[in-house]
Amino acid sequence: MKTALRLLTVSLCICLLFYAAHLVSNTTALKLLPSLLAQPPLPTIFAITPTYARLVQKAELTRIANTFRQVPALHWIVVEDANETSKLVANILTKSQIPHTQLCVKTPKEITKSRGSVQRNLALGWLRKTFRPEDAPPGVVYFADDDNTYSLEIFEEMRYTRKVSVWPVAFVGGLLYESIKVNTQGKVYGWLVSFAPSRPFAIDMAGFAISLKLILEKHEAKFNLKANGGYQEPSLLQDLVTIDELEPKAENCSKIMVWHTKTQNPNIQKKDSFNTITEV
Ligand code: UDP
Ligand code: MN
Repeated sequence: MKTALRLLTVSLCICLLFYAAHLVSNTTALKLLPSLLAQPPLPTIFAITPTYARLVQKAELTRIANTFRQVPALHWIVVEDANETSKLVANILTKSQIPHTQLCVKTPKEITKSRGSVQRNLALGWLRKTFRPEDAPPGVVYFADDDNTYSLEIFEEMRYTRKVSVWPVAFVGGLLYESIKVNTQGKVYGWLVSFAPSRPFAIDMAGFAISLKLILEKHEAKFNLKANGGYQEPSLLQDLVTIDELEPKAENCSKIMVWHTKTQNPNIQKKDSFNTITEV
C-alpha cells in the first residue's frame, strides 16, 4: 500500500513538471535558467598601490602580484609616482593577468610628508570617474602599498565591508603590531597603539578597507597631503565614518593577516657589473 502511494505521488509530480514545462515556452525556460543558477556577484576588491622607481620596485611588484593573482575578483589600480607610466610596470601588470588600471602622477616637490598619497588620491578620483554611486558594482577599496606582505585571508575578510572594516597590522608604529580595542558586543572603541593614540583613527593604511559605495557617495573625501605621517589615514577616515561604525575583522581583531614589512635596499658594490642583463 505504502509503495503504491509513493508511486502515485512520484507520477503526480512528474505530471505536474510536464504541465509546467508545457506552460513555459522553451525559450522562456532557457532565459530563466541562468538567473535561477546565478550566484550574487562577488564584491570586487579595488587594491590601490602607489609605487615609485627604485632598485627593488620590480621585485616588490612581482611579489605582491603573486599574491594578488590568487585573489578572485580583484582589480589592481597601480599608480606610479612618475610623469609617465613605465614599460616595467606595464609588463608586470600584463604578465600577472590580474584585471588592472595603470595610472601615474608625480608627487610635487613641495609635498614631502605623505608618501604615496598623491597617487592614492588620483586612484580615488579614477574610481569616482568610473563608477556612479547609484549603479556601482559591489566593491571595496584597499590601500595596498607595494612593500607590505598580504595573506590571502585578509582579502576575504575585507570583501564584504559595509562601510569601513578594520584589523591589526604587524610591525608598525614601533610595535610588534598595532591593533584595535573591540568590546564584547563587537564594537570598536579605541586603539591599541603607541604612537599618537589620541588620533581620531589611529590606524595604519594597511589596516582598513572602505566600501566602494561609501567612497563614491562621499565624493569629497581624500587624503590631506599636508598631514604628517600617521595622520594621513585619519585625514581620510574622519570624512567617511565614526568610530562606532567600524567593522572589526580578523576574528575581532585578534589575528595578524597583514605585515607592514620593508625591503632592505640592496648593497650594490659595482653597478653594471657584466652588462649582460638590461633589466633587473
Ligand atoms: N611611494 C611613492 N613615492 C614615494 C615614496 C613612496 O609612490 O616617493 C609609495 C611606495 O611605493 C609605497 C607607498 O608609497 O607603496 C608608501 O611608501 P613607503 O612604503 O616608503 O612608506 P612607509 O611604509 O615607510 O610609510
Ligand atoms: Mn611601506
